[in-house]
Amino acid sequence: PESFLSVRDLKVQFSTEDGIVKAVDGLSFDVERGKTLGIVGESGSGKSVTNLTVLGLHNPRSTTVEGEIVLDGKELVTATEKELEQLRGNKMAMIFQDPLTALSPYYTVGRQLSEPYMKHTGASKKEAKSRAIQMLEKVGIPQPKVRFDDYPHQFSGGMRQRAMIAMALMCDPDLLIADEPTTALDVTVQAQILDLLKDLQQEFGSAIIFITHDLGVIGNMADDLLVMYAGRAVERGTVREVLGAPRHPYTWGLLTSMPRLDGDIHEMLTPIPGSPPSLLNPPSGCPFHPRCAYQEQIGSRCVNERPSLAEGRASACHLTAEQKQTIFIDTIKPR
Ligand code: SF4
Ligand code: MG
Repeated sequence: PESFLSVRDLKVQFSTEDGIVKAVDGLSFDVERGKTLGIVGESGSGKSVTNLTVLGLHNPRSTTVEGEIVLDGKELVTATEKELEQLRGNKMAMIFQDPLTALSPYYTVGRQLSEPYMKHTGASKKEAKSRAIQMLEKVGIPQPKVRFDDYPHQFSGGMRQRAMIAMALMCDPDLLIADEPTTALDVTVQAQILDLLKDLQQEFGSAIIFITHDLGVIGNMADDLLVMYAGRAVERGTVREVLGAPRHPYTWGLLTSMPRLDGDIHEMLTPIPGSPPSLLNPPSGCPFHPRCAYQEQIGSRCVNERPSLAEGRASACHLTAEQKQTIFIDTIKPR
């Protein structure tokens, strides 16, 4: 299958007062046309940085980017700011966790939808307005003609999220990047927004990168899954493969620390011990080793040798395929 976005050996480093932060450290993935890639990980795993880099929204002065990002045949790492700006309008768009980072409080929602559209497509004011009203309607904003003239503060949180999705869809992007798009919303509105995104994907055929720390959300949303830890991918596969038979101890940790709504509500969650590593001074070998319950089965190799991630269905861990399967079936799955 043809990949619409191809990222190869991406490295993103920030220079800070305390030293170099390796925010993304050798990441490769593909997104196919019309498909959704879920990227899962704790905060600080590099998932947001990766996507800001794809969009060219990182700060070029303090950030070094190496590797390849190819979007529809166009190399983005070496693209100029002007080229990236053009692509951000026409080919890719972002949906943020907090709509207020995308929507200005000073302008009406309608103006914020139509002005970038006019700029990118050369449409007239009238055409842009009618497109904006059409998009507001598509995302389920009632009375879109009236709401066009409202300011963001006149919208509820869920409606602002819808307005931001409408804004992202104005130019019919081929790639939509959604970063924790529903985290700030209550569960009911969250479900509505996720359904909306799926419907819109059917209609528009956009590829989506869906970033979340919540494995519970991803099952219904994504086709493929990438699990990130400490700026690297530690597991990759289809959603069915990764959620059905996960192979990496970190993915096991995410699964067993996930609240289950259908289970006994008093069930104790098992958080992953410890905290995500500092990317200023990441652990040697396998970056998960200080938190991993299975390191003892392998020994010093985990501390000394960085496990690599093969192509396709894969997990970056020194356990053998047989050990991974046995541990999952005997101890993780029954929980
Ligand atoms: Fe754990 Fe070792 Fe696998 Fe890393 S390589 S996840 S430390 S068993
Ligand atoms: Mg984030």
